[in-house]
Amino acid sequence: MGYYFDPTGLIVGFVIAFGLAFIPSTIAKRKGASGVGFWFFGFFLFLIALIVAIAMKDRTVQQQPQVVVVQQPQAPPPRYVPPPPPRQKAPSPKKNCAYCGSLMAHDAEVCNGCGAKATR
Ligand SMILES: [Zn+2]
Repeated sequence: MGYYFDPTGLIVGFVIAFGLAFIPSTIAKRKGASGVGFWFFGFFLFLIALIVAIAMKDRTVQQQPQVVVVQQPQAPPPRYVPPPPPRQKAPSPKKNCAYCGSLMAHDAEVCNGCGAKATR
């Protein structure tokens, strides 16, 4: 019964570290940093690399000059204009003939008074 080194745990740990290292690597790469560098960083110090990758500034974002918004002088509030009273409470179901002026049904095809074809 001798002690011998079981490499299974090491291999499993290696594989896990290998895979996990891609997380900070991907994050760092997306931010314009070295993906390979962060992969090694993550391989050895996963948690720290992950925190650094998340916390670090996005280098791909161009530093844009601050746009100074000139405050426009406040315009006086628009005076309340009451809406014009509606001329008609409801659209009239009747209309006047364009020719003789007699009242006819809104959907009438032909004028009752003169027999002219109704215009819509
Ligand atoms: Zn008519």
